[in-house]
Amino acid sequence: MTWQGEGVDFDNYQKDMKSNRLDKYSMRHWMRSDETRNILIVDDLRTQSFKILDHILYNSITKKPIYRPCRGSMPCELCDKKVIAIPFVFLTVIDFTPYTNKSGKQYTHFKKLMAIGAKNDLPLFINKYKEHGGTKLTLWKVFRKPEGKSFGDDWTFVKRADEAKLKAKGVDYSVLDYEAMIKSVKDQDYRPLISAPGITWSTVDKSKPEKDAAQDLGMEDIEDHGTTNKPATATDQAKPNEDPF
Ligand SMILES: [Zn+2]
Repeated sequence: MTWQGEGVDFDNYQKDMKSNRLDKYSMRHWMRSDETRNILIVDDLRTQSFKILDHILYNSITKKPIYRPCRGSMPCELCDKKVIAIPFVFLTVIDFTPYTNKSGKQYTHFKKLMAIGAKNDLPLFINKYKEHGGTKLTLWKVFRKPEGKSFGDDWTFVKRADEAKLKAKGVDYSVLDYEAMIKSVKDQDYRPLISAPGITWSTVDKSKPEKDAAQDLGMEDIEDHGTTNKPATATDQAKPNEDPF
């Protein structure tokens, strides 16, 4: 059994590769401090979310973190270099904050990848799951405290989304194609990244200890309720919030 891909409903994968290109992999859900957003969780946490080990590097020139998924059982140049890898759970979310991209194109909503640290941050969502009987197509009002978690700290349940309304608004509420993301990673060569100027990383003391620990990590037996401040990627820009429903 491999770590990657467990708990994923393969039947629900979107086939349209154009909307799930690897460059969207970095479009991660991220919020500014003191900001409130309306966020729709698309997946069911228990059956559709996607578990993965993510290597974390740092670009000291742009001062931004760089995430690259571990290839798991395949040869991985980042594992060879002992680049630290953290287990994450991926969820697909739709952010209803109006957004304008660099080309000036406007969006009323935007599909994003939300990466939750499996060790420290997953318990929050497991508790929400139990409290509200699931996460599939649930709408939340999310607030990020100053210096809080990049994906937001306070998740207040609003309601279960009405699929007819989502369709009427032209919202694509399919789960991101996680498997396609991983498949495309297999063809990537991490060596140019490692040797690029300004790229640094923390190393683990022994080979793949996080991976060994992660493979024993179940959804029900997580007891570490510590906090982390995962570095945010500034790939999006905030606009005044608007209630879509
Ligand atoms: Zn690796």
